[in-house]
Amino acid sequence: MKRSNELLAGWGNVRPARCSVLRPGPEQAASSIVEQVADNTWIARGLGRSYGDSAQNDAGVVIDSTARNKILRIDVEKRTLTAQAGASLADILSIIVPAGFFLPVSPGTQYVTLGGAIAADVHGKNHHVDGSFGEHLESLVLQTASGQRLLCSREQHADIFHATQGGMGLTGLIDEATFRLLPIESTRISVVASRTSNLEETLARLESTSSRYRYSVSWIDVLASGSALGRGWVLAGDHVPNQNKEPLRWQPKAWGSVPFFMPSSLLSRTTCGWFNSRVYRRGIVTGDSVSLEQFFYPLDRIHHWNRIYGRRGFIEYQAVIPTENAHRGLAGLLERIASSGIPAFFAGIKATGAAGKGPLSFLVPGMTLGIDFPWRAGVEDLVDQLDRWVIKHGGRVYLAKDALLYVDHFRAMYPRLTEFQAICDRLDPERRLVSDQSRRLQIRSQD
Ligand SMILES: Cc1cc2nc3c(=O)[nH]c(=O)nc-3n(C[C@H](O)[C@H](O)[C@H](O)COP(=O)(O)OP(=O)(O)OC[C@H]3O[C@@H](n4cnc5c(N)ncnc54)[C@H](O)[C@@H]3O)c2cc1C
Repeated sequence: MKRSNELLAGWGNVRPARCSVLRPGPEQAASSIVEQVADNTWIARGLGRSYGDSAQNDAGVVIDSTARNKILRIDVEKRTLTAQAGASLADILSIIVPAGFFLPVSPGTQYVTLGGAIAADVHGKNHHVDGSFGEHLESLVLQTASGQRLLCSREQHADIFHATQGGMGLTGLIDEATFRLLPIESTRISVVASRTSNLEETLARLESTSSRYRYSVSWIDVLASGSALGRGWVLAGDHVPNQNKEPLRWQPKAWGSVPFFMPSSLLSRTTCGWFNSRVYRRGIVTGDSVSLEQFFYPLDRIHHWNRIYGRRGFIEYQAVIPTENAHRGLAGLLERIASSGIPAFFAGIKATGAAGKGPLSFLVPGMTLGIDFPWRAGVEDLVDQLDRWVIKHGGRVYLAKDALLYVDHFRAMYPRLTEFQAICDRLDPERRLVSDQSRRLQIRSQD
């Protein structure tokens, strides 16, 4: 098995760590992979699309699972797919779309592995209707650090099944998984876009579109303040029936790649302000329908787009605020961001539905805000302020995007932590499973 010493980072490129990376092939038994790292601390890694430090392990082992990407079965009758956990959503889409299916839940990029999607219990633009990825998972096979191979489902090892969803790789190596597929007739999404002039209007529009459309999301002009705070565009959509019975094709196109890290001075408050007000004036879509690819994966068209933020990288911040506090909570977050002087390019708000079953699953019913900040002086303080505000309003931060949370804040946000720790201790009494994130947040129990 190949092993190399590498500097690894999350998609935000902050705080890289030197790790010993193991790259097992598709035929290697998961048990022998774990045996090989039995004397080390280790964590699994997918395509490295989590933004922070959850898929790296400073001075320890990282198991890169991306070569274990076989699609094992599609059951058209039962509408399920089974694959090795290193299969990317892009690999899966290339098989399921021509067969008339789509992912039941998709994050905003297809360059995520099945294992990464389960470990973060990812959500999509349909969370208000369909919940997170775990809701659609039938079963998973977990290789634990203590050498057990467990088939987990709602019926078997149900607590481990749920803890692995959102468990950020800390229950073991997900080897393969089976999930339900969504039947589709065409590769188009009908869209309705409407401009809003403040936060109240944005949230009201999101609530009303959420009850009528499968997909709903908003883009927020993050630099607007005062009476325009929270203005933006709300985008809602549904799968389009196939009137012409055309064959379904999946041929995503790339526009190109950002070849090197751009100078971070390009991202000033002026350029961000110009960009945001231009999008606000012009809108985010044209026409009444778009392709699946345009609707779900617009950023995937530019490979390595994260290099736009420069070598110093960026922080992607995502928090959810429960329904009863959503308006006040989000207004406070946007006010703090607007007055911080720190530029931000992309921000969006989504309505969220039922909570996932995992003790560390992120979403609860309410509204979630996602926003990115180029890494610079002041970002840590701003994020700390935002975290305190989120806690005050009963919310939490998404672990797949976190890079800066403090232990105390994490504990206040995730009240089921001890339940999760007990499961991890049972599966891995020697505490081999560790990531930089789990060390920073003390996600595993301490002696
Ligand atoms: C452009 C972009 C858009 C995004 N949009 C969304 C979105 O809309 N919704 C959303 O929920 N998320 C979103 N994300 C986040 C992303 O979906 C998650 O971070 C996901 O976990 C990344 O998967 P990965 O394969 O890259 O995993 P990595 O980033 O490599 O790892 C993430 C976690 O999964 C664990 N893991 C990976 N593989 C395995 C395995 N085989 N067994 C056990 N644990 C494993 C790792 O240990 C780590 O804790 C987005 C990310 C990007 C870059």
